[in-house]
Amino acid sequence: MRDLSAGPRVLLKRLRELMAEPLDPQERLDRIVRQIAQNMVAEVCSVYVLRSDGILELYATEGLNKDAVHLAQLQMGQGLVGTIAASAQPLNLSDAQAHPAFTYLPETGEEIYHSFLGVPILRTGRSLGVLVVQNRTSRVYRDDEVEALETVAMVLAEIIATGELKKITRPGLELDLSRPVSIEGASFGEGAGLGYVVLHEPRIVVTNLLNEDTDHELSRLAEALGSLRISIDDMLSRRDVSMEGEHRAVLEAYRMFAHDRGWVRKLEEAIRNGLTAEAAVERVQSETKARMMRLTDPYLRERMHDFDDLANRLLRQLTGYSLRPSNADFPADSIVVARAMGAAELLDYPRENIRGLVLEEGAVTSHVVIVARTMGIPVVGQATGAVALAENGDAVIVDGDEGRVHLRPMVDLQRAYEEKVRLRARRQAQFRSLRDVPPLTQDGQRIRLQMNAGLMVDLPHLAESGAEGIGLFRTELQFMIASTMPKMEDQEAFYRNVLKQAAGKPVTFRTLDIGGDKVVPYFRAAEEENPALGWRAIRLSLDRPGLLRTQLRALLRAAAGLELRLMLPMVTEVAELKAVRELLQKEVQRQSKMGEKLPRKLQFGAMLEVPSLLWQLDELMEEVDFVSVGSNDLFQFTMAVDRGNARVADRFDVLGKPFLRMLREIVRAGERNGTSVTLCGEMASKPLSAMALLGIGFRSVSMSPTAVGPIKAMLLALDAGKLAATLNPLLDDRQSSLSPRQMLIDFAEAHSIPL
Ligand code: PEP
Ligand code: MG
Repeated sequence: MRDLSAGPRVLLKRLRELMAEPLDPQERLDRIVRQIAQNMVAEVCSVYVLRSDGILELYATEGLNKDAVHLAQLQMGQGLVGTIAASAQPLNLSDAQAHPAFTYLPETGEEIYHSFLGVPILRTGRSLGVLVVQNRTSRVYRDDEVEALETVAMVLAEIIATGELKKITRPGLELDLSRPVSIEGASFGEGAGLGYVVLHEPRIVVTNLLNEDTDHELSRLAEALGSLRISIDDMLSRRDVSMEGEHRAVLEAYRMFAHDRGWVRKLEEAIRNGLTAEAAVERVQSETKARMMRLTDPYLRERMHDFDDLANRLLRQLTGYSLRPSNADFPADSIVVARAMGAAELLDYPRENIRGLVLEEGAVTSHVVIVARTMGIPVVGQATGAVALAENGDAVIVDGDEGRVHLRPMVDLQRAYEEKVRLRARRQAQFRSLRDVPPLTQDGQRIRLQMNAGLMVDLPHLAESGAEGIGLFRTELQFMIASTMPKMEDQEAFYRNVLKQAAGKPVTFRTLDIGGDKVVPYFRAAEEENPALGWRAIRLSLDRPGLLRTQLRALLRAAAGLELRLMLPMVTEVAELKAVRELLQKEVQRQSKMGEKLPRKLQFGAMLEVPSLLWQLDELMEEVDFVSVGSNDLFQFTMAVDRGNARVADRFDVLGKPFLRMLREIVRAGERNGTSVTLCGEMASKPLSAMALLGIGFRSVSMSPTAVGPIKAMLLALDAGKLAATLNPLLDDRQSSLSPRQMLIDFAEAHSIPL
């Protein structure tokens, strides 16, 4: 075989000419395979294209029987070609027929060819087809030949992606790129949304594939890598690393990769084979992605993701692409698709345009999800592969109830969902009609229904939902979306506005709960190994009393003449409450000394989120006016499962015996001490778990605004006493294997309680 060192360059040049010629698609493909065969001194060159029905169809061949074109077919995973497409890995064989996966297709006449080299045709890590060369003699193709064929496969990926092959696809069949795909994820936020994909990190489309001047491209790459390295070092050297929303560990991984010789060598090799610098990055990135999509180990996946992010940065350097289009470019029905996202990033989007959110990662109680739910956006999480499978502008349905994403849905599915959305709107209207119905259970128990909030946009929900008040106002959200620390005056104006909009309904302000997964860009402490157990919330407030006092002052001033309800997050010991009370006292004294008007009434409360407080329940209840159970964190700490870690977050059940028993202890302590107890975690937002809460004695809950209607519908149909009489004995029963969850589902069904 001829030395190929100059081969790929010559070949790519020919292919470029062929791409530019006004040929019909079949002719173009035929000429391309002929060129490849000639250039690689192969007797056979064939292209198989993946159809939407999972079949790889022979689209062109040089060397095999021409009559087999559009007839020879292999399933994904079947034969050598199917194996390459399914694994997204090349196969290089000196004796193809000896391979266990070999499938003989008599129509092709390929039995006389012994050696076989096939590579996947990849686009953003997806296999769109397979490119094969074959020779009669038994030989192993050299690495540079494999490399050359992979480079050529990129050109074919481009041809497939342009949709040009549609014209030679048999009627009724579709190519894989436009295939409808359903992704199973997890339900993170109820409702269904129809719209068009907006990739949170837009994919950079490289159109300029083939280079004119290798040295020039090599120096472009070197330059871009240089500035990339500098920008990473820059970010790392900044004391406030989180300015870019990055974590130090991620940046360090980037730095390591940016200096990775293997990676750089691969990029340079692709350029030497005739690609432009950006096409080289895309090619190597696509291979990494293909591997990433097949990895199951979460740590390795994470590292591969870092690599992917880095490649995107490099592409941006090379193409001058900006990170995100301006808000004006968002379609009216946007479905945002992201691997992961921070709450503040979601808030950057124009709310009125977002119909849904799809995340590859995350957990129900992660912050971005909570924010999305407050905004009433349907969310599907853990939707593996969504980013790679979606293209900007693709039609998409987010089914937040079932936890499914339908990409490029068929027309009938789309219709069914349109109907579902209409039905939901009708149900919402029914819930609205319950707005003024008193929240009384069948047996006359009055339930206090409040809502959670954190931003100005939440306030209108207070009147719309009929909630009695705001049971949890997450003040940190204002801090999280600001680019600099809000000043006392800003805070005061904000709280004043909240109270004004609440129009006399009580608002329970929670003091700053930052740290852990709640990152405030301009305030960042040292990296912690276990941030959830680290320096956060009240701990941080007590160590930085200036921050807390400023907030307390702002709250006292904003609530002048009104009732101020204050609540502290993440209390671990009663002593912490006493310490805050002292600070509060000082602020009150300061205000009165200055002749400022004070709140009419001050209610002081604690969040119960750390299990240690269960052994100080009576002291706690004596110390405060009210207690609010933060079941998201309480569950995390009780069960030792990271609420943001998808791998373990759903491992245990909030409706399991240990957690329900624990919650019941808290309610009983409240009754014993005459202290009001509310629960404001996500548990209160789901009819089934909210029903369980009423069963163990809760009479006050605070939830996301969209949940108020469904929860009220549930309680209006519930006999709380009867439920208690069934649930409590089950919780006390040491023998029964019946899970409380199942018991609750059965109870709801037997009593026609809407869930
Ligand atoms: C909780 O932990 O349950 C809670 C309500 O607080 P957050 O979700 O803001 O941590
Ligand atoms: Mg919490």
